[in-house]
Amino acid sequence: MGSPPIGLSNYWCRQLVLPASILKKVDQICSRYFWKGADISAAGARVSWDKICISKSEGGLGLKNTKTWNKACLIILIRKILAGDGSLWVAWLKAYVFKEQDFWHYQAAANLSWSINRILKSRAEALPLLSTGSPQATEIWDLIRCKGQTVIWHKLIWFPSHIPKFSLIAWMALLNKLPTRDRLLKMGINTDSICVNCSTSYETRDHLFSQCTMAVELWNSILKLNGMNTTFLSWDEMVIKACSLWKGRSLLTTILKISWTVVIYTLWQERNQRIFQGRSRTLGCLLKEVKDVVGIRLRGTNINRLDSTNLQLCSVWGIV
Ligand SMILES: [Zn+2]
Repeated sequence: MGSPPIGLSNYWCRQLVLPASILKKVDQICSRYFWKGADISAAGARVSWDKICISKSEGGLGLKNTKTWNKACLIILIRKILAGDGSLWVAWLKAYVFKEQDFWHYQAAANLSWSINRILKSRAEALPLLSTGSPQATEIWDLIRCKGQTVIWHKLIWFPSHIPKFSLIAWMALLNKLPTRDRLLKMGINTDSICVNCSTSYETRDHLFSQCTMAVELWNSILKLNGMNTTFLSWDEMVIKACSLWKGRSLLTTILKISWTVVIYTLWQERNQRIFQGRSRTLGCLLKEVKDVVGIRLRGTNINRLDSTNLQLCSVWGIV
C-alpha cells in the first residue's frame, strides 16, 4: 500500500476536523448574530465572545465556543482511533495511515493531509485527557474550555423563572459592559456625560441603576409593594446584599429577583428612549410596566396560596 489517498482522507476528515479559519468564522457569525439580537449599538462596549462562552457561574452565558468544541471532538476522535472503534473512517486510518505503528509515536509524514497532521498535533493535549478513562465529549469540553473565576451574582439573574431578555441586560450591567456615557467617553466617543433619567449627575452604571433618583424611587416602590422597608444602597452593596438574602424559592425571592432584572432593563430602556427617541415616561408608567411583567410571568405558576404572605403578594402583583 502506498501513501494515503489525500482526496479520500480529506473527505472523511471534513466530517470531523475543521480548519481554524472556518472555526473562527463560525464563532464570528455566532457573535454577530448574538449581538444583532441584543440591540447593543456601541461595538467597543460589547462583551467578548470568549467571555460569553465561559459558564454562567463564572460570569459568562455558557455558550459553546466552536473552536473548543471542535477540539473536544478531535480528542474523541483520537479516543476512537485508539479503541479501534468500528467506524469506516477509523478502520481506514488504521489500514492506510497508522498500520501497525503506535499512534502516540507515529511520525507525521509530509504527504499526509493537513487534517491527519492536525490529529497528530493534538496528541500531546489528548494524552492526559484520555489517560484517565473514557470521557465523553462534553466532559472533555469542560476540561479544555476557557475558565473564569466564579462570580457571586450568577443566581441573581439565572434562576428558574428568569426572563432571558431582562436577565441579559442585568448580566451586562453586572459586568459593567453596557455602553453608559462614562464608558463611551473613556473609549473616546464624543457624548454628553449627564444622566438623562435625572439630568443632575454623571451617567455611570452605579449612578443609573442605584443612585439616580429614578432608580431609587422605582426600586423603593417595588419594596413597598412587597411590604418591605425602603433602602438606599450603592450598586455593590445592593448586589452583595441581594446575593446573601435572596435565597431559596419563596415567592418573595422570585418576585425580588425578577423585578430587579426588569428594573435594570426598564431604566436602561428609558435612558435609551430619552436619548435616541426624545420620549420619556413617568415613574408611574415605569412601575406599571415592571408590575405587568412580573404579574404575567408568575401567572399560572405553582404558588402556595394558603400562605398569607403569598396571598398578599399575589394580590398586589396581579398574579392570578
Ligand atoms: Zn440619574
